[in-house]
Amino acid sequence: MLSGPSGVGKGTVVAEVRRRHPEVWVSVSVTTRKPRPGEVDGEHYLFVENDYFDWLIAQDGLLEWAEYAGNRYGTPVAPVEEQLASGSPALLEIELQGARQVRDRAPEAQLVFLAPPSWGELVSRLAGRGTEAPEVQSRRLALAQAELDAAGEFDVVVVNDDVARAADELVSLLTAPPPAGP
Ligand code: 5GP
Repeated sequence: MLSGPSGVGKGTVVAEVRRRHPEVWVSVSVTTRKPRPGEVDGEHYLFVENDYFDWLIAQDGLLEWAEYAGNRYGTPVAPVEEQLASGSPALLEIELQGARQVRDRAPEAQLVFLAPPSWGELVSRLAGRGTEAPEVQSRRLALAQAELDAAGEFDVVVVNDDVARAADELVSLLTAPPPAGP
């Protein structure tokens, strides 16, 4: 499972994983956020209404979910269970609160933290995205600071200094055999 601050490039790294390693299964989250230009329903996210999100929670249909910068995001549980039952890994790209829920619910999950090469780099990436209003950007920056502080809770830190390299490192972690038992 991949987490890390907003703007660090999680989406870009996961898109690169899909491109370079189409065999890797990536969970599609549900969100109440409106699509950004270029985002495709069912591919980047399942874009849903608040009522439907409530219904999913009530059905216990989400492995984890969180509210982030005014929208809700969650991982549909059934496809992940199906994927793991087939014996292959599942890649989840989620924010910190969700990562903590997965850790509590599935302690065997591998938590990977994607870190920016530097804080300055993260600030300029968040500003450079240019798709959000300034107040949304500063809200995301404050969240990003808190998320960076949580890196120590993760099993592995991957630095996003180069998207292709980070994607390859992520896939090798995902497909590595589990460590031998005692
Ligand atoms: P964005 O709006 O930029 O696509 O995503 C905002 C944040 O929500 C990102 O940090 C992203 O990783 C996270 N996110 C995306 N899908 C999920 C999900 O299913 N669960 C949780 N907890 N976070 C998610």
